[in-house]
Amino acid sequence: MSKKYVYAFAEGDGHNKPLLGGKGANLCEMTQIGLNVPPGFVITTEACLEFLDQKALPMGLLEEIGEHIRNLEQQTGKQFGGADNPLLVSVRSGSAMSMPGMMDTILNLGLNQETLRGLIQQTGNQRFGYDAYRRFIQLFGKIALGVDDHLFDHEFDEVKRAAGVKADIGLSAEHLQDISARFLRVVHDATGKPFPENVFEQLEIAVKAVFNSWMGKRAIDYRREFHITPAMANGTAVNVVTMVFGNMGNDSATGVGFTRNPGTGENEMYGEYLVNAQGEDVVAGIRTPKPVAEMAKEMPELYRQLVELRNKLEAHYQEVQDYEYTIEKGVLYCLQTRNGKMNATGMVRSSVEMFGEGLITKEQALLRVNPSHLEQLLHPRLNPSHKEKPLATGLPASPGAASGKCVFDADQAELLGRGGEKVILVREETKPEDIHGFFASQGILTSRGGKTSHAAVVARGMGKACVAGAEGIQVDSRSRLARVGELTLREGDIITIDGSNGNVYLGEIPTIPPKFSEELKTLLGWADEAARLKVFANGDTPDMAAVAMEYGAMGIGLCRTERMFNASERLPVVVEMILARNTEERQASLDKLLPMQRQDFIDMFKICAPRPVTVRLLDPPMHEFLPSEQQLLDEIEGLKEYRLAVKGRAAALAALNALQHTHAVNTDLSEDLVNSVISKKELMLRKVRELHEVNPMLGHRGVRLGITYPEIYEMQIRGILEAAAECVKDGVEVSPEIMVPQVITAQELKWVKAGVDKVRAEIEQRYGLSLKFKFGSMVETVRACCRAGDLAGIAEFFSFGTNDLTQAAFSFSREDAENKFLPLYTDSGILQDNPFEVLDVKGVGVLMQMTVELGRRTNPDLKVGICGEQGGHPTSIRYCHEFGLNYVSCSPHRVPIARLAAAHAKLLTEQ
Ligand code: PEP
Ligand code: MG
Repeated sequence: MSKKYVYAFAEGDGHNKPLLGGKGANLCEMTQIGLNVPPGFVITTEACLEFLDQKALPMGLLEEIGEHIRNLEQQTGKQFGGADNPLLVSVRSGSAMSMPGMMDTILNLGLNQETLRGLIQQTGNQRFGYDAYRRFIQLFGKIALGVDDHLFDHEFDEVKRAAGVKADIGLSAEHLQDISARFLRVVHDATGKPFPENVFEQLEIAVKAVFNSWMGKRAIDYRREFHITPAMANGTAVNVVTMVFGNMGNDSATGVGFTRNPGTGENEMYGEYLVNAQGEDVVAGIRTPKPVAEMAKEMPELYRQLVELRNKLEAHYQEVQDYEYTIEKGVLYCLQTRNGKMNATGMVRSSVEMFGEGLITKEQALLRVNPSHLEQLLHPRLNPSHKEKPLATGLPASPGAASGKCVFDADQAELLGRGGEKVILVREETKPEDIHGFFASQGILTSRGGKTSHAAVVARGMGKACVAGAEGIQVDSRSRLARVGELTLREGDIITIDGSNGNVYLGEIPTIPPKFSEELKTLLGWADEAARLKVFANGDTPDMAAVAMEYGAMGIGLCRTERMFNASERLPVVVEMILARNTEERQASLDKLLPMQRQDFIDMFKICAPRPVTVRLLDPPMHEFLPSEQQLLDEIEGLKEYRLAVKGRAAALAALNALQHTHAVNTDLSEDLVNSVISKKELMLRKVRELHEVNPMLGHRGVRLGITYPEIYEMQIRGILEAAAECVKDGVEVSPEIMVPQVITAQELKWVKAGVDKVRAEIEQRYGLSLKFKFGSMVETVRACCRAGDLAGIAEFFSFGTNDLTQAAFSFSREDAENKFLPLYTDSGILQDNPFEVLDVKGVGVLMQMTVELGRRTNPDLKVGICGEQGGHPTSIRYCHEFGLNYVSCSPHRVPIARLAAAHAKLLTEQ
């Protein structure tokens, strides 16, 4: 038996999205649960892949399509290509993953001179007939025949101008007839052939065009940006659906809706509709639609049916739906449904509420929210105390605030955005081909279209701020400017948009970080209950620790003590320590640093109490605290020139005073002072040269430094343990952890541990108490992984330093690789991901697994975590869970993402 490529809606398996695409599967499912869906069929993604592979439709496909068309004719009583009661169809793309607007759709297929006459006769509505016809010629011409859309727009505008109307609704049947004739000419001129009259030929061309759109630039860009792999979606299905018309008069309408508000998550009817219009008018923003609430007054019975439809959809799919419908002469049809793309605010609120309503379980509520999307909730808001007056106001289409330079086309947005500039893409309306401009922009502003227009939907999906339909702004993209009343906005002028209330401002307005919503707190609370991994934060100062705690960190997993020295009053003391000529001088500087570090530790321990704070002893090479050799050379040269000039000025002044018998005062710095600064700088220069290393990242750093200059580590250990003792004395329960960096052998750990024991004994005696703390090792060298069994005999915990471990495993410099060859490696697929961002499971991951196994063989209770950058990345967190780690530690603002990702890791791997 030959392969089956086509399924009627009544027979397709609603769960088989890979074969039928999301839209097709849903149309089958909706039909089979009894919703009023126009009859139709789906051509499978398999057919698409074969077509793309062989550059020809699979054998037998056209015959199969023909049979299904015959079935449609039977079901509807209409005839495809027939003049009396013509059957018209839409031809729509739809892959396994929703890619809104990325591929092509053709409406009103089946119209030709003859069926057009039939349609007009049958409906008695000439205007309607020509309206459908001109729409079909344009869409088919553009998508299936590759005719430039502007050629059609040009003709259309000309007729509108001549008729003196602004919107197409003002055009008469004759105008539309004229437009249709012009469009036919456009096609003929552009292709050298007449517009195809044979409806089966139309269908064949359309199916091929939709298949080809899978490999179109828009679709490829989209898949790359959203990491849609062939395993997730391969090829597009084609849905052939009986046309129903929302433009058959005032008892007809078309609309789109979400089952909940996708911006806020609120449980309410949400959407827009247009009376006497086709679906594309709503999505393209050509006419500004009405909010669905108005339908309750305008068409109360249909509104009731719509509410029923929405409730059925959500109850059935247990997920917020984004649906499209058409009302044809008072009958409501559901044309499409798919899981609604909501922003993170909407997802979080609806998750918590849908659990409360008994629609979904807590696990489903957690799994609905993509951890990376929580990043959106960490977006800034406009400072509410700002006094700026908005320049214009549009619809609040996607929340968040953004400032940037105005740009008026997507290419320019991409160009400037790539160069690191912040831009706002300003358009009259956006189209799918603008997608690359969205990626590059901070926010989107349009002067036309509603909250479900292309701009709004795409921006929300990306979590970017969007103000849509700001009608007070006239955008002139050709001249690269926009007019707002008297004011002209030119490319490069800075504006701020607030996607939460629709306001647009001139200039940049300060923003404040967002606050956690109660719903997010609830959801993250569930995540903590569900997860096995604990989530700690990397925080180096009391301020960072406070932020981390606010974000729900369960402790500090890495305090890089060297960063505590960065404050301006501390750095000179550190430099003094480095310049010390002997141990006594070094000790004197360390004595000055001790109280500063101790106080920081006291503050951090108290902020985090009773949670652990993992303090890492000094790690970077010393020269990082000193100026560069070149800077010192320049400074010394400058000082010497100054000294000469001062000498000259002093001599000149003396001569002048002698001549005039005056006593003018010389205000230059004294020569002695300049000399002493020069000798200090020269000393620094000698030190910089002495400390110079060819490979400093593999050089005199980490525990090697601590062993060479034991007094440095001793000061830090003292700071930590005295701070702990002070806290205990104050009745605060603290859990400090001392961590040693760059370890390669257990001997190093023993060496440092001996120092710790000595200081501990002394402090315990002095304070008369016993200290509780842990002693552990970073694992960030390959040798440490190999010797993990030995290290675990001394260390009570391990923390993977995957920044250095990745550097070591790949022999990639972590400082340089990302600016040099790594982008090429990832773009060309040599490496799938940047290993400094996403844990390299196949290399570094193997070392980690080996380490955990060896370590726990020695000490089954060994606590193991990760504190490299990858610790905040959801995919890496999943690996960490699978490797049996106890915790991940990441930057404070990623903690919420990591908490949810930790729950996902558990729920997805241990169901
Ligand atoms: C690491 O190497 O992963 C780490 C956390 O330490 P640092 O980045 O400070 O070297
Ligand atoms: Mg490191």
